[in-house]
Amino acid sequence: MTRTRNRTPENAHVYLIGSGIASLASAVLLIRDAGVPGRNIHILEKDRIAGGALDGSGDAEHGFVARGGQMHERHYACYWDLLSGIPSLENPEVSVTDETFEFNERLISHGQARLLKDGRRLDVSSYGLSLAQQARLLKLLYESEASLGDRKIEDWFDGAFFGTNFWFIWSTMFAFQRWSSLAEMRRLCGASFIWWRGCRIWVAC
Ligand SMILES: Cc1cc2nc3c(=O)[nH]c(=O)nc-3n(C[C@H](O)[C@H](O)[C@H](O)COP(=O)(O)OP(=O)(O)OC[C@H]3O[C@@H](n4cnc5c(N)ncnc54)[C@H](O)[C@@H]3O)c2cc1C
Repeated sequence: MTRTRNRTPENAHVYLIGSGIASLASAVLLIRDAGVPGRNIHILEKDRIAGGALDGSGDAEHGFVARGGQMHERHYACYWDLLSGIPSLENPEVSVTDETFEFNERLISHGQARLLKDGRRLDVSSYGLSLAQQARLLKLLYESEASLGDRKIEDWFDGAFFGTNFWFIWSTMFAFQRWSSLAEMRRLCGASFIWWRGCRIWVAC
């Protein structure tokens, strides 16, 4: 395949499939670094709601629904660099990066509960995993992704696993179902070591 460099990016038309952050980031870089005009970038989305895994819907009167809580850590250097060139909707003089940091300093999160049932806080001082289930979780981390193939989470763990505090926290935090991809769970479990370093997850996994 021969590659030809496009020397007139202002005339290029780019079609991105999906409106998730991957496409949105591509669009920003195409505008910022490659000089492609925004009007020439076309984002095609099959869903009714835009944003992919970062979607959100609703209004101030009825409330908002987002698929999952997303952690935007300070060490996401590329992410914050990306957003530093995007003006805030409320104040175009301020970038989305600065707006977010300012918001986080003003409104420190103060979570008081990990799990609720019938409006009451549950005791999650233990993940409720048996030794065998903990071992199974550890074994998952050491499996190669290829060997997991298209297996589901329920193909790996025993039925009781899905009644543990660990599963309730895990599945509600990351929108997993029993039938979700085991390989995806393994990936996220590995990533969680980084996100939640120092937390009890180290022991559980
Ligand atoms: C509950 C939850 C919590 C998470 N928490 C974090 C977190 O804390 N920190 C973090 O860094 N990451 C987190 N993630 C992961 C992160 O949100 C995703 O990795 C990221 O948003 C994926 O972006 P993407 O653009 O690659 O794909 P997606 O967001 O999946 O977007 C793909 C888009 O393409 C569309 N599409 C697919 N096929 C077609 C087609 N043929 N035609 C048109 N459109 C199509 C889909 O409808 C979708 O809108 C979380 C994810 C979830 C679900």
